[in-house]
Amino acid sequence: MKDQMIVSKQVGRTPRSTPPQDHLIVTIDGPAGTGKSSVGRMLALRLGLEFLDTGAMYRAATARAIDAGVSLEDEDAVAGLALEADFHFDWQTDPPTLLAGGKPYDARLRDDDVTRAVSGVSALAALREVLVRKQKLIGAQHPRLVSEGRDQGSVVFPDANIKFYLHASARVRAERRAAQLQETGRAVDIDALEQELDDRDRSDAGRAVGPLKKPEDAIVIDTSSLSFEEVVDKLEKVVRAQVTLDAPAGGE
Ligand code: C5P
Repeated sequence: MKDQMIVSKQVGRTPRSTPPQDHLIVTIDGPAGTGKSSVGRMLALRLGLEFLDTGAMYRAATARAIDAGVSLEDEDAVAGLALEADFHFDWQTDPPTLLAGGKPYDARLRDDDVTRAVSGVSALAALREVLVRKQKLIGAQHPRLVSEGRDQGSVVFPDANIKFYLHASARVRAERRAAQLQETGRAVDIDALEQELDDRDRSDAGRAVGPLKKPEDAIVIDTSSLSFEEVVDKLEKVVRAQVTLDAPAGGE
């Protein structure tokens, strides 16, 4: 916040001569189904920043544990597999491709078994330690970043320049998820989807380490009655009002 206030003052005083920021982290946290990933991706694209989908990392860790046949309660085994996988993103593709052991590892991430298990696996402290460390490293290597998840503003990037927290009613989120699934030809039960989202929120918010929570200094946006474009426009406006966006000289 301190950075944010200083930047705002500079922009207000000398908008044209303010140097572009070589360090600009925007975090987006919130419950499942608020559109954080699509919004974050589009926001990053519009602002010329990179995009980090931390949910994909927890999903990949879960998929690897399932596929390796280890108990999903075995912290050390699950965390060990994630450490060994050395998750990275290929930033040249849109959306960025998650790599595990240097190979693309996107195919399993949205499978039902992974979605059902991911919240429980994400509560394992040893796994969070591995992934939080990796996310901080990615932030250091890619310091112009939109990062999306549950704990990005609170734990991973507490000094982020701008923090957003998106939310929407569980019903609206279930309807959006249903529309996405219907597009891919899958049958949907909205009540079951709503229940699933509700369960996941409760589990994500209730865990001891890195729970889903609104950072104190986050800007809260209720997306229930907003379109995708309206949400992105809103976020973009806030960011542009507060920071200098041109790419740093000689960078990227
Ligand atoms: O965002 P997405 O739905 O892909 O995230 C899947 C799950 O990963 C969440 O329900 C949550 O349990 C976990 N997660 C997390 N911390 C993050 C991002 C995701 O615990 N930073």
